[in-house]
Amino acid sequence: MIRRPHKVMKPRAAGPATAPTGAGLLVVHAAELVTLRGPWARARRGEEMRDLGIVPDGAVYIEGGRIREVGDTREVLRVRGGAADVLDATGKVVLPGFVDAHTHAAFAGSRHEELAWKVEGLSFREVLARGGGIHRTVRDTRAATKEAIVAATRKRLDGMLRFGTTTAEVKSGYGLTTESELAILQAIDELAGSHPMSLVSTFMGAHTVPPEFQGRADAYAGLVADEMVPAVASRTGARFCDVWVEGGLFSADHARRIFAAAKAHGLEAKVHADELSDTGGAALAAEVGAVSADHLLHASDAGLGAMAEKGVIGVVLPSASVAAGLPFADARRLIRAGVPVALGSDLNPGAWNESMQGVLALATHRLGMYPEEAIVAATVNAAFAIGKGKEVGALDPGMAGDLLILDADAVGHLGYRLGGNLVEKVVKAGRVVMDRSPLR
Ligand SMILES: [Zn+2]
Repeated sequence: MIRRPHKVMKPRAAGPATAPTGAGLLVVHAAELVTLRGPWARARRGEEMRDLGIVPDGAVYIEGGRIREVGDTREVLRVRGGAADVLDATGKVVLPGFVDAHTHAAFAGSRHEELAWKVEGLSFREVLARGGGIHRTVRDTRAATKEAIVAATRKRLDGMLRFGTTTAEVKSGYGLTTESELAILQAIDELAGSHPMSLVSTFMGAHTVPPEFQGRADAYAGLVADEMVPAVASRTGARFCDVWVEGGLFSADHARRIFAAAKAHGLEAKVHADELSDTGGAALAAEVGAVSADHLLHASDAGLGAMAEKGVIGVVLPSASVAAGLPFADARRLIRAGVPVALGSDLNPGAWNESMQGVLALATHRLGMYPEEAIVAATVNAAFAIGKGKEVGALDPGMAGDLLILDADAVGHLGYRLGGNLVEKVVKAGRVVMDRSPLR
């Protein structure tokens, strides 16, 4: 690749370039500007997932929190050169902030003690029988105040931001009573208004059957549909409603009932589908018009075909497989079936991963995804999976000014490196909100 020589930019205004004056932010001379621009106003599928829209020696101009100009540095400087604070990205990669399409980041407590049980070889169900697993987190979260949930979740969001996540979906689902689910979703609302990261929240009262309803999943699904959904829709900012469809948890009929109530109250559907077995979750997601079906380790060909036909996004979550000792979803098979694929961390107390870079590495090494596909899945497609595809996930005029400056000269380092953190700076809505560059 031929790169034209460039001059070193100096900040125009007084003060360091990392403290913008509000005059707009200009990022110039990126070795690779990964725009992810394209003609598709929807999640990408098949070959489309290989197109990163890279501009060599690229520049981005952000003003009023939104991207105004994207392109070759010389061109962007000609149009916008005079009126901005400047960040020089010489020798570095610039790309949109990561979008994490699936997290359970709002909870209290931790389950680090259970790791030893996993090492001993205890199964998911044996851990539950010992009082661990999700039931432990439900106890801790029910006992916590909303303020405590906000404080604990804020620390995790900070961690995610350090690894480059600028937008994330966060689910409830560790309260499992109307009052406690409302408290969790209101905690997420509070963080959405005070944390630099953009958040989209999902009500997941149907995450598991709580202990007091053991053996009465029908009655609990009724409570979720008839009492929790209306309360959540009127008193929180939740946008989606998610149900874990699995043997021993919620059946397809439970899910239909909950999604009918959700739809009547303006909440869109998401499905935890076919993680432990093929329960027809993928087909159900297509049937109810869900935005996404997530996990999909055991999805049938017919289910994937139905998803592809309806444009349901398949969210794959490799950290969950690592933590639970499960096989990995075959993302290659999803892509071949024409399903648009997105990635999520599934951050939760049983699979605690705050790093979308780590997720990218698992996706390339274990899910059969090319690095380009994994990057599309962690940006554009993840944005569409949470209903934000027209706002974030690509560097295009009119979209949010959310970008990362990586300390690497080629985007191919993403997905290739198994550990570490390539993010040097995180820009959110045109403001540097995280700067990890060495002090010299
Ligand atoms: Zn999940």
